[in-house]
Amino acid sequence: MAIQKKTTPRCCFCGRNDKEADLIAGNYGYICTDCALTLTNIVGANTMQPKPAAKQTFNEPLPKPTDIKQYLDQYVIGQDEAKKFLSVAVYNHYKRISQQNTSDDVEIEKSNIILVGTTGTGKTLLARTIAKKLHVPFTIVDATVLTEAGYVGEDIESILTRLLQVADYDVKAAERGIVFIDEIDKIARKGDNPSITRDVSGEGVQQGLLKLLEGSVVNVPPQGGRKHPDQKMIAVNTQNILFICGGAFDGIEKKIAQRLNTHVVGFGAINTRNNIDNTNLLQYIAPQDLKAFGLIPEIIGRLPILTHLDPLDRTALRRILTEPKNSIIKQYIKLFAMDNVELKFDDEVLDYIVDKAIEFKLGARGLRSIVETIMTDAMFEVPSANIDTLTITVDYARQKLGKMALKNL
Ligand code: ADP
Repeated sequence: MAIQKKTTPRCCFCGRNDKEADLIAGNYGYICTDCALTLTNIVGANTMQPKPAAKQTFNEPLPKPTDIKQYLDQYVIGQDEAKKFLSVAVYNHYKRISQQNTSDDVEIEKSNIILVGTTGTGKTLLARTIAKKLHVPFTIVDATVLTEAGYVGEDIESILTRLLQVADYDVKAAERGIVFIDEIDKIARKGDNPSITRDVSGEGVQQGLLKLLEGSVVNVPPQGGRKHPDQKMIAVNTQNILFICGGAFDGIEKKIAQRLNTHVVGFGAINTRNNIDNTNLLQYIAPQDLKAFGLIPEIIGRLPILTHLDPLDRTALRRILTEPKNSIIKQYIKLFAMDNVELKFDDEVLDYIVDKAIEFKLGARGLRSIVETIMTDAMFEVPSANIDTLTITVDYARQKLGKMALKNL
């Protein structure tokens, strides 16, 4: 007959017996209430870790290109072609990221974007608005401050430092962000030929940028600045970061015209030449024009989506004043409403503002400074005046703007 020895029940974790602690019996042993509590805390803490922001966004349904364009329409006037290109590129980019784990051999390549258009036509606004729609970290960097590593200026990696900062150092989120590199034309090399002298702020920077654009793991100094042996680097993979580059490419129209002229020979040449709209040559921009301007072919290859922005005409400027969701006029109306004053603008005032923006050659950027100049005195006086309504007439606008023009002489 087998004798079964009676064992004292003990907690499997801390070893205390039933006299020393309250035990909970399971199928194969015991656990004391203290250890159970500790385990709950550990497991709870792990499961309650916040998910990285990018992951949350990633699980959201991706907006379709038409949705993205519609959203852009609310903030950006005109620029239909650029909007369409951007919407498709961004949609494909995020589709590509979500398809990455599939096992077939078809690998969708990354498609960074380059926007060409004169200053103040909405390049930055487009990029910023897209990032807002997608809820991804977004940063704007100016290519003019970048220099080749080791020279006065900022290292290329500083681009990613900014992205990390806006993502609150959540590396996963930053790795799915959007970087807008402004003034990319300023790092063009001078001329079409490779330089024989050192070109630290032109070709050298382009070479450095290549690494980021094509997708690689880059060691980023978390606080920016020069690489310092003591600074702990953060490794950031740029493979899924979308780069949107923008530039005015002043004078590129000449290169486009040259190309168009040399190409329109032979049968049908007259027809083609006649069809060219000389007032907006940017619409014909092609990668070879960027090369002629001084971007190295490798960079052009890494920016496969090339699109242009149209110059803003009078109608577009007029619409920009009032139509976008946060248009300048709406912003001023809101400012005055906070003081319980209803602000109105006569229609002629809006035309006058547009005329002045065109006259001063200030484009869309000038609209705000003109409105600001017209409104400064009112903003100073109205909060302490006892009025309900303020209507801005063209005479009032002319008077205020005239004062500024005199001051600036
Ligand atoms: P760019 O980057 O092309 O130099 P921005 O996007 O910075 O120009 O535009 C400057 C400002 O002009 C914007 O903040 C916006 O207020 C206004 N703006 C320019 N283009 C447009 C546009 N197409 N629609 C609405 N606002 C515009």
